[in-house]
Amino acid sequence: MIKLEHLGFAVKNLSEADELYGRLLGTGPYKQEKVPSEHVITSFFKVGDVKIELLEATSNESPIAGFIKKRGEGIHHVAFEVQNIELEIQRLKAQGFQIIYEEPKKGADNKLVTFIHPKSTGGILVELCQEIS
Ligand code: ZN
Repeated sequence: MIKLEHLGFAVKNLSEADELYGRLLGTGPYKQEKVPSEHVITSFFKVGDVKIELLEATSNESPIAGFIKKRGEGIHHVAFEVQNIELEIQRLKAQGFQIIYEEPKKGADNKLVTFIHPKSTGGILVELCQEIS
């Protein structure tokens, strides 16, 4: 894995969270994007080299809706950037990690993404992302 790319926070209301994190970080989001495959709308903030991704569900099918129902708002996932997501999926499967999407999906921010189930990572949902060139 190359680096910590972003942290994903589950929020109930994106415009309220944009305002809150704008005040906290001292700067507003630099972009907002819908991700139809995950039924979410996202906002991105920059903090040095790392990004904060705020995620609001756009339907009840969204994993974010399920997360908030179960656990409330808070840290939803930690994302690491990788150079070659297919190779990394094979490597991690061989190491016994439970990959959620064996076929990476198009995520936010021009990236291919997959997730590793928190059951196999000590309770943390881990995202792998690779920049689409
Ligand atoms: Zn993410």
